Amino acid sequence: MADQLRFPEKRSAPAALRERIAEMRVEDADWRGGRTFSLVYNVGDPQLEEALHETANEYLHENALNPFKFPSLLNMEREIVAMAADLLHGNPRAGSLSSGGTESIFLAVHTARSWHRANGGPDSSCSIVTADTAHPAFAKACHYLDVEQRRVPVGANLRADTESMAAACDTTTAMVVGSAPCYPFGTIDDIPGLAEAASEMGILCHVDACLGGWLLPWWERLGEAVPPWDFRVPGVTSISADIHKYGYAFKGASTVLYRDQELLGHQYFMYDQWPGGLYASATTAGTRPAAPMAGAWAAINTLGAEGYLEHAGRILDTTRALKAGINAIDGLGVTGDPDMSVFQFASDRYDINAIGDVMDDQGWHLDRQQGGLHIMVFPGHDAVVDEFLADLTYAAGNHGEARDTMAVYGAVDVE
Ligand SMILES: *Cc1c(COP(=O)(O)O)cnc(C)c1O
Repeated sequence: MADQLRFPEKRSAPAALRERIAEMRVEDADWRGGRTFSLVYNVGDPQLEEALHETANEYLHENALNPFKFPSLLNMEREIVAMAADLLHGNPRAGSLSSGGTESIFLAVHTARSWHRANGGPDSSCSIVTADTAHPAFAKACHYLDVEQRRVPVGANLRADTESMAAACDTTTAMVVGSAPCYPFGTIDDIPGLAEAASEMGILCHVDACLGGWLLPWWERLGEAVPPWDFRVPGVTSISADIHKYGYAFKGASTVLYRDQELLGHQYFMYDQWPGGLYASATTAGTRPAAPMAGAWAAINTLGAEGYLEHAGRILDTTRALKAGINAIDGLGVTGDPDMSVFQFASDRYDINAIGDVMDDQGWHLDRQQGGLHIMVFPGHDAVVDEFLADLTYAAGNHGEARDTMAVYGAVDVE
């Protein structure tokens, strides 16, 4: 076992800290170079970056636990929810800002369970039905909240199988879930079908648009054929959409929106049994950081529709170029028919993980899925398309045995 680290006895000057941090960071992924395909949404927009840094500085210490003490934060959250609702054709007052996609999904599952109990569902058991491509955040939320998740295999087109999902519902089922798009394959589920089935059964339908929520509206405006997925689809009752992904805010910002305020009410927690006073909170956090809220507001206002459209156009062009380029490499192909800038590619001839190893050696960071390598396109990737395809062509023709075989998206420290 390593030596026990001792608590520092002395103060450290900022310059000394900076030096130590710089040393510790040498192995960190260099996302600014456009060689990573997940984790950081690289925009390469200096004006946006300046605005984010400035706002984070301004709001480092405020606490959004009690927004009435900080009316500016109350106002920003309300505006963010209203602007998100404008994009997604939702209700401008029926939503919350959360710390990320996982919290938005957690809140939506909690709301569904609470709604289900309030509407005559059996108190002790509650289930939701998802496709097997649904993000693990649903499994996690169900685990925490003691809700059963029924996972249904996707169809051959890698989209939720609406009929089987409807068949998996029973009286314990509070909600069906579709993705727009799902993370592994970038496919958008049949949201109209799922929402109609849910509505016929009198249950809720959540759309996980953590990825698509802040990009698909712009692709639609650019004339892309985007399958219907937002509140314009009757029967969709809630949507999660991350601002810290394609909304280009820094980490800690997502939205969860509901069709109406009554449903949102099921999300709230209120407690009047405490000597400390009345405790009410809309989301899971108590003390709530203000910087992500202000940062999200700053990102939206810095870019405006104008900026988002520009970046969405870059992503669209880059996605097309990458898909065409990959499909043109002998033995490689994009999996299925992705609807967005997120997709898997695989090989019917080579060991795809061995190709991934060669790409690693060339300084690219491609995430490994069960069946292929994963790409998520950011605006900053437009500068590296040719280099990437050249390296991938090389890797397809010059690889050995695979070293690494599994994507790791998070870690727990166990010994
Ligand atoms: C990222 C993601 C989530 C979870 O969001 P976090 O911000 O990582 O908590 C949920 N669903 C989809 C489709 C995602 O891509």
